[in-house]
Amino acid sequence: MTDLIANIAAIVGPKGLITGEDVSLRAADWLGTTTCKAKAVVRPASTDELSQVMKLCHAAAQSVVPAGGLTGLVHGSDAGPDDIQISFERMRAVLAIDPVGRTVTVEAGCPIQAVHEAVAEHGLTFAVDWGARGSATVGGGISTNAGGNRVIRYGMMRDNVLGVEAVLADGTVISSLNTLLKNNSAYDLKQFFIGSEGTLGLVTRAVLKLYPTPSGEATGMLALDSYDEVLRLFAHLGKRLGSGLTSFEVMWRDHYELIAVNSGRHTPPLPGGHAFYAIVEASGVDPERDADHFATVLGEALEQGIAADAVIAASKAQAAGIWKVREDIEGLFMATAPSATFDVSLPIVAMDEYVRGLRAAVTERWGADSKVIVFGHLGDGNLHIVVGPRPWSEEARHQVEELVYTPLKPLSGSISAEHGIGLEKRAWLGISRSPEEIALMRTVKAALDPKGILNPGKVLA
Ligand SMILES: Cc1cc2nc3c(=O)[nH]c(=O)nc-3n(C[C@H](O)[C@H](O)[C@H](O)COP(=O)(O)OP(=O)(O)OC[C@H]3O[C@@H](n4cnc5c(N)ncnc54)[C@H](O)[C@@H]3O)c2cc1C
Repeated sequence: MTDLIANIAAIVGPKGLITGEDVSLRAADWLGTTTCKAKAVVRPASTDELSQVMKLCHAAAQSVVPAGGLTGLVHGSDAGPDDIQISFERMRAVLAIDPVGRTVTVEAGCPIQAVHEAVAEHGLTFAVDWGARGSATVGGGISTNAGGNRVIRYGMMRDNVLGVEAVLADGTVISSLNTLLKNNSAYDLKQFFIGSEGTLGLVTRAVLKLYPTPSGEATGMLALDSYDEVLRLFAHLGKRLGSGLTSFEVMWRDHYELIAVNSGRHTPPLPGGHAFYAIVEASGVDPERDADHFATVLGEALEQGIAADAVIAASKAQAAGIWKVREDIEGLFMATAPSATFDVSLPIVAMDEYVRGLRAAVTERWGADSKVIVFGHLGDGNLHIVVGPRPWSEEARHQVEELVYTPLKPLSGSISAEHGIGLEKRAWLGISRSPEEIALMRTVKAALDPKGILNPGKVLA
């Protein structure tokens, strides 16, 4: 054991430190396909312990890699043999709930689902929600500015975080645990830590904004035969449901049929054979009236020839069945591996042409056996794309990345809608950010982490 590790052990105690072979027994990704390569895993139990650890690491110029639930999809928490992994698994507490001010204060390692469950007892809801809720943590969600299924109504993590406490590279604790909705007292320092993927500070606690739990939620799925119908449906729902519309997710036919119809993992809510499938969710405060209105609005879509078929969930279990199709990322990965996954933003109106162009380019280069699967948070302008060129190779992956990312530039699109940059997208950052923006990012990084010990190599080379 080195002096540094021994000194860290004295701070965090035996429960707070994992070394040797025990490190490589730990998973390094959400599917458990890789194992941890760090030289040690430090599991602080408090902000104060982490602050002391970082003081030592800073003095020794020791690199650290923060890890939450490891559900990130861009290799943002990958650690190498020279790194120490900082795990937040012993900092999972829900510290305080203010039902009047509608806030919850939590530790960074608290899973998103645990936040949902804790605040539900008070008739409140945390609006950010996504498929990995059982494992993904508040700290990971903040560090990646996670989005999810209800961004169209409630925004991303950034819109739902009021305060953040973080430990800087040198161990300084920045306790910016604001609980106020309005606070313009100079710079909003929490923004440094939201979406910066652990490269500017280690999030230890956060104050999250809550909403009263809607008294009714309605979920439906519609089948559509053209992209024009998708656009018309989106406009129709916006007009008729207003701010009650909480989700507008769309699956292209290949995705729906692969997962819902042909995988054997689900009962298809609607038959296959249509070009698009939309999942629509709305919430309100008058369950009976809202359910009737939802049925009327979907009925109008059928009558007006906007949609070819529709189903409305008659129970929570049926609603969950609809969402499971969309959220079955494991099934998708199993069915498409080996493949490259993407998370891009672009104007909604440009999506159909973009996807057609990508399909044509992939088929032209690798043939019709190659897979291009498309789905996403369409209402947010966010598509997830899985491309499996056949035969697969790392060279093919790079070529696919080029085909996916290059057309985004003239569309002013983004190479990352919600997953971040990590290691995976670093080389392509110039598609979405100007040289001046990247230079300013480097200035901020150098100011907050002059020794470059926080999640080195992630986001910026
Ligand atoms: C099935 C599935 C569905 C998903 N759906 C969505 C979705 O709809 N929307 C979406 O946005 N994402 C989605 N994701 C991606 C992922 O869940 C998010 O990126 C999530 O925010 C990662 O949280 P985590 O706790 O797992 O963080 P990790 O994966 O452990 O880490 C993510 C990044 O945050 C850093 N980090 C972690 N904790 C801290 C901390 N306390 N302080 C500083 N840095 C930290 C890590 O170093 C890394 O760079 C999905 C993933 C899966 C597997």
